[in-house]
Amino acid sequence: MTHGRATAAPLPHFDADLHSHSCVSDGTLTPAEVVRRAHAAGVRLFSLTDHDHLGGTAEARDEAQRLGIAFVCGVEVSVSWGGETVHVVGLRVEPDAPALVRGLAATRSGRDERARAMARELARAGVAGAFEGALRHASNPALVGRTHFARFLVEQGVCADVREVFRNFLVEGKPGFVPHRWASLGDALDWILDAGGVAALAHPARYRLDAAALETLIDEFRACGGTAIEVVCGSHARDEQRRFAAIASRFRLLASRGSDFHGPGENRVEFGQLPALPDGLVPVWHDWPEADCERAAQVASAIGG
Ligand SMILES: [Zn+2]
Ligand SMILES: [Zn+2]
Repeated sequence: MTHGRATAAPLPHFDADLHSHSCVSDGTLTPAEVVRRAHAAGVRLFSLTDHDHLGGTAEARDEAQRLGIAFVCGVEVSVSWGGETVHVVGLRVEPDAPALVRGLAATRSGRDERARAMARELARAGVAGAFEGALRHASNPALVGRTHFARFLVEQGVCADVREVFRNFLVEGKPGFVPHRWASLGDALDWILDAGGVAALAHPARYRLDAAALETLIDEFRACGGTAIEVVCGSHARDEQRRFAAIASRFRLLASRGSDFHGPGENRVEFGQLPALPDGLVPVWHDWPEADCERAAQVASAIGG
């Protein structure tokens, strides 16, 4: 008699969602609520990747265990590169790793100062009380950021929704924008790798970089030890998925997939609605014990890996 877990029939599509936010950073749901929502939508491998914070990890992991959904610890690190803010997702990180914990704390410490400066800029544009207003939307006052200001502007009727805010406010050249120096690419990668994690370049289509600058970023990212890139994510249109599938192949990067869920009604896509990774890519989870090993082996043999 064989011992151990029952063999489940393989699903036609393995739903991995490796990018999401809770109210520990700028999401609207608690870590446990985010996990429940992902699980209910059919996600089978999940990571909570709050901005510069691992505070939701224990709650998310406990809820994932309770529900039987595979979970890896994650974090989304804010990086300044070439005058642009770039996001790097660290996956399968050890949440207590000292360099990562210290680095994230240092990255967070600039936020309060930046938030006060953003409020001053908004006041100059005629929007008063933005600091206190943004704080009301932040469950963690130490992590007040642009999304909280955006929710305040929507609440005040200045904009119809958060997406409209990010077209007219809080971005370069618009009221409320404050430049900020985040972590360096090298430091962020060092923290993630030191914590035993895999680094994935998040939502690469979102950066205001031309094709040459983007390739330079990817070269530097790889030189610093980065091995993965988000190909399918909540902010990529179909043509962008195709573009970054080609880039993943060309630069020999593993492919990641994540909704970048922030809260009900705030996303272009919900959990469970992302398309599958395009054929021919190696999923970032291909050799993770947390992932369905049978499925991963099928993928590896299909691409000759
Ligand atoms: Zn991001
Ligand atoms: Zn994100």
